[in-house]
Amino acid sequence: MKQRMYINGAWVEAQAKATRAIFNPANGATIAEVPEADREDARLAIAAAREAFDNGPWPHLPASQRGELVYKLGVLIEENAEELARLESLDTGKTVEESRWDMADIAGIFKYYGGLADKMGGEVIDAPTETATSVVVREPVGVCGQISPWNYPLLQAAWKMAPALAAGCTLIMKPSEITPMTAIRVTELAESLDFPPGVINLLLGPGDPVGAELSESPLVDLISFTGGIATGKKIMCAASGNVKKVALELGGKNPNIIFADADFDVALDYVLNGVFFHAGQICSAGARVMVERPLHDRLVAELRKRMAAIKVGDGFAEGTEMGPLISQAHRDKVERYVVIAQEEGAKLVLGGKRPDDPALQNGFFYLPTLFDQCENDMRIVQEEVFGPVITIETFDTEEEALERANSTIYGLSAGFWTGDQARIKRMTRGLRFGTVWVNDFNVYFTQAPWGGYKQSGLGRELGMSGLEEYTEQKHIYHNHQPQPLHWFGRS
Ligand code: NAD
Repeated sequence: MKQRMYINGAWVEAQAKATRAIFNPANGATIAEVPEADREDARLAIAAAREAFDNGPWPHLPASQRGELVYKLGVLIEENAEELARLESLDTGKTVEESRWDMADIAGIFKYYGGLADKMGGEVIDAPTETATSVVVREPVGVCGQISPWNYPLLQAAWKMAPALAAGCTLIMKPSEITPMTAIRVTELAESLDFPPGVINLLLGPGDPVGAELSESPLVDLISFTGGIATGKKIMCAASGNVKKVALELGGKNPNIIFADADFDVALDYVLNGVFFHAGQICSAGARVMVERPLHDRLVAELRKRMAAIKVGDGFAEGTEMGPLISQAHRDKVERYVVIAQEEGAKLVLGGKRPDDPALQNGFFYLPTLFDQCENDMRIVQEEVFGPVITIETFDTEEEALERANSTIYGLSAGFWTGDQARIKRMTRGLRFGTVWVNDFNVYFTQAPWGGYKQSGLGRELGMSGLEEYTEQKHIYHNHQPQPLHWFGRS
């Protein structure tokens, strides 16, 4: 299936005619051939978005009209959800059931921001004199470069595209080069609506040079990126050339802390839910499990039993609970971490290898893996593995749990389990993370802001904050009775 990218309202090949094969990670089969853009293509997409913003109707449309189009795109996604879910599973390997949830969320995101577009009225503020009026209005920030990762391809794209469009910006979406399929399909759906040419551009190609060009270009006003910390740092540097606005959603190493007074069965279930969706390739995966000593042996024994029963396989097959990792290169990385963990002294309790099933040998599968006796300074504890791997640390006091949890460069999300109300208050205040779950894990929804403390990011997506990211504030001071001051040249 040969695909194209979308620039200035037209489906085009790369200028240099380069292409890339897209693979199904469950069996290595080629599912599509897509254009592989270079800097020249990126410049064309940026020019189209610039023209559409500077001289086109889009930023000047009444917000309700923009909102209606964004909402309609949500409806189209809903109507095509099953096709999109299957495409996402083909491209990422995740189970179709998971992809169906993603599509429901994605439709909801477009509907939410469609509805919010005309609700972001300005503000009247108290002017220093009675004869003046001071108002603050929000205006679209301009041309937005948007770069998304491979783990939740369409969901992460939706978090960026929907608020940018609602705010009146024009955009260039660059999905991960290995998972572009659903972004292509949604752009086709958007084409059937009345977005003016150049408002939505879809650029397909590698991070460097295509994402790099978006980050560096003086014609781009904002760069929104979701991906790894190392790439985020490069983007921040590249963006400094024209001091463009930068929004970063980076990785996480997310503690899931179980106190001895927790409801054990529920907490156990959520340790599994916290990690094994999409084979642990989730920025908010609760891969770092901390357990209070009295529950340690029971937790390890129960996890071992439940993890050994997780059905690993093709995401399209009935009963599959966990699909493959995204690529050979990524599985190599997970395998390297498993070796490092053992060298550091962590005890391998389960997994640590590929499945033996002959039917899975062409895919990038890896078994659920459990490490016990992990310590705070181990790389397996501090670094993002992004695979189906749990590490267990044991603690004796609340202070120790909090100190361990915060001793990380990341600050995306954390959760803890306890029935003690005073502890809940202390822990929620003490944890330095953008999201804190109390007696739950991995809950996020469109209305609540999402983002990281520390090196997990900059800014917030979702909720009202997600829309505000795509706006500039303008203060308008109107003097209704101007009078001379006679300050200068008085004599
Ligand atoms: P990545 O950083 O390798 O790539 C992400 C995107 O950046 C891709 O589109 C890639 O092409 C592009 N890119 C690569 N180099 C670039 C450069 N020099 N300039 C501009 N763009 C460049 O990340 P990944 O492996 O695709 O995704 C996994 C990472 O994403 C994990 O660290 C995960 O935690 C993070 N993530 C974070 C969130 C969140 O909400 N915080 C959500 C999903 C994923």
